[in-house]
Amino acid sequence: MIKPPVEELEKYYKTIRAPKMRLILSVQAEASRAVRGWLDSNGFLELLPPIIGPVTDPGIRGAKQATIDYYGKEYKVMSSAILYKQMLATALDKIYFFSPNIRLEPIESAQTGRHLVEFVQIDIEEADVDYKAAMATAEQLLSHTVNHVAEKMKKELDQLGRTLPRFRTPFRKITHAEAVEILKSYGEPVNPHAEIPWPQEEKLSKIIDEPFFIIDYPRGARGFYDKEDPARPGILKDFDLMYPEGYGEAASGAEREYEYSKVLARLRESGENPAKYGWYLDMLREGIRPTSGFGIGVERLTRYLCGLKAVWEARPYPKVAGVYSP
Ligand code: AMP
Ligand code: MG
Repeated sequence: MIKPPVEELEKYYKTIRAPKMRLILSVQAEASRAVRGWLDSNGFLELLPPIIGPVTDPGIRGAKQATIDYYGKEYKVMSSAILYKQMLATALDKIYFFSPNIRLEPIESAQTGRHLVEFVQIDIEEADVDYKAAMATAEQLLSHTVNHVAEKMKKELDQLGRTLPRFRTPFRKITHAEAVEILKSYGEPVNPHAEIPWPQEEKLSKIIDEPFFIIDYPRGARGFYDKEDPARPGILKDFDLMYPEGYGEAASGAEREYEYSKVLARLRESGENPAKYGWYLDMLREGIRPTSGFGIGVERLTRYLCGLKAVWEARPYPKVAGVYSP
């Protein structure tokens, strides 16, 4: 955990003229090109992301949603566009967008070095595949991007003092239950029924010093849209992808719940009011294809590639919880 330098962050916009900023943003631009190149050549169609809607992803642990007045109705700014991705993949097979998200993260998030209030995630979804296929896509995409940037941007990375390890697939996979055991053996007990707290997530990503997946989260730890395994009630067919070197979570993904009655039950169980999800439930009632996908944060990717102390160094005008910056 790091102490957020509030005064520095209030004036952070001035760093746009610093030579280091040019290096970081050049690496980021090359990473985005590598991501698009890989996805485009593997049959994914880039779409424009929805930015506002009547509801948005409620599974954002502890963060609040941002609300706008949309001609007299309350609308949400996307905390993630997950709800739209299932229908888009149903219609168009393999899709992605660079999706700007707003999450009013809790004040403590300013200390993780991993949380911004405004960030971009590359949101990817594919029809008729399971979560194992989504993980294969995630590891190939990340390996391609890291290895490409390490080579193409070597000069810039040298100037930033960063040497990247070579990523090799397949990545190691551990279950959530195994992650809990590993943390316990390192004197870090965590709740086995919840997502791993931020400090322990960082610790685990130091202990396992290679890119890896945590799979099979317990039901209740994640959003209502992560599919429960019919063969293992209480276990979700989902994953987090983790960076090595203590950088923590890179991406989260899952096979999606897509059957109307199951989604309705999970919505109710998670305390959501189904009436707010009218259009989404209508779509499920009409029937959609099973899909799997994930979202990978651009600023966290940039932080990892450049070896930055905190994610706010990876944007020209960063917004960090509780800091009044432009
Ligand atoms: P989630 O659905 O919450 O797992 O978010 C998907 C991905 O978006 C994460 O794995 C991160 O890479 C990124 N992300 C989520 N929240 C934030 C945040 N507050 N700041 C920066 N990146 C984030
Ligand atoms: Mg996540």
